[in-house]
Amino acid sequence: TVEVHDVHKWYGAHRVLNGVDLTVRPGEVTVILGPSGSGKSTLLRVINHLEKPEIGHVSLDGELIGVRRQGDRLKELSERAILTQRGRIGFVFQNFNLFPHLTVLDNVAAAPVATGRLAKPAALELARDLLARVGLADKATAYPRQLSGGQQQRVAIARALALRPGVILFDEPTSALDPELVGEVLSVIKDLATSGTTLVIVTHEIGFAREIADRVVFIDGGRIVEQGPPSEVLDKPRHERTRDFLSKVL
Ligand code: ATP
Ligand code: MG
Repeated sequence: TVEVHDVHKWYGAHRVLNGVDLTVRPGEVTVILGPSGSGKSTLLRVINHLEKPEIGHVSLDGELIGVRRQGDRLKELSERAILTQRGRIGFVFQNFNLFPHLTVLDNVAAAPVATGRLAKPAALELARDLLARVGLADKATAYPRQLSGGQQQRVAIARALALRPGVILFDEPTSALDPELVGEVLSVIKDLATSGTTLVIVTHEIGFAREIADRVVFIDGGRIVEQGPPSEVLDKPRHERTRDFLSKVL
């Protein structure tokens, strides 16, 4: 279970998150929607402690992320401890962020080796299995630049899976892709969703959200405006701002 508790994030006078509470239970798929600048990426980055909240905290299965309690204050963990925790939280970026100088297979095998989780041969075997799972078994020896955007994003998903994370966060995973490549990436994500992986997905693909989300969260101005099953938030939004947003993206 991911718990986001009363998270506030600001940059100087610019308030980006204004008290966000969110719970994601194991096996649940949560889709986050909201206008540009509403704080969606920042929220994902707070969840894996790429950004530190000014107020509030995040926990995964009851363990605080990035901090520990010291009296009634929260103290930052060591960089090393944070990296270990981040291994339990997969992150898939809009722009794939693969290592350009590594083959596809090594991209996927890198993290389990670097974290000491697996010896190289076992990591390569896992990477081969994961590449097969995203339909790219035949691309193991290719370099990222030799792949299409859709293929690169599928490699990025395999890479996120390699640490067997408790949750995977997706930040607009298809928005950098040519339209004809969106489907193959959504289909891999859908496969994860149906196999019970816990997912938090920022996307503007409303049809996809309706299909796979257990819960849709609409965020605006750094606050959750409404959340609920797609049949409520997408089909019968209660707030004017949600209706307005949906009328623009649908
Ligand atoms: P988009 O749909 O365009 O990706 P978003 O909902 O993901 O938008 P964020 O990227 O979370 O929005 O940004 C929220 C606000 O915080 C924006 O106004 C952005 O300019 C601001 N912001 C984000 N990161 C920083 C930073 N490092 N320094 C200053 N302001 C920032
Ligand atoms: Mg964003």
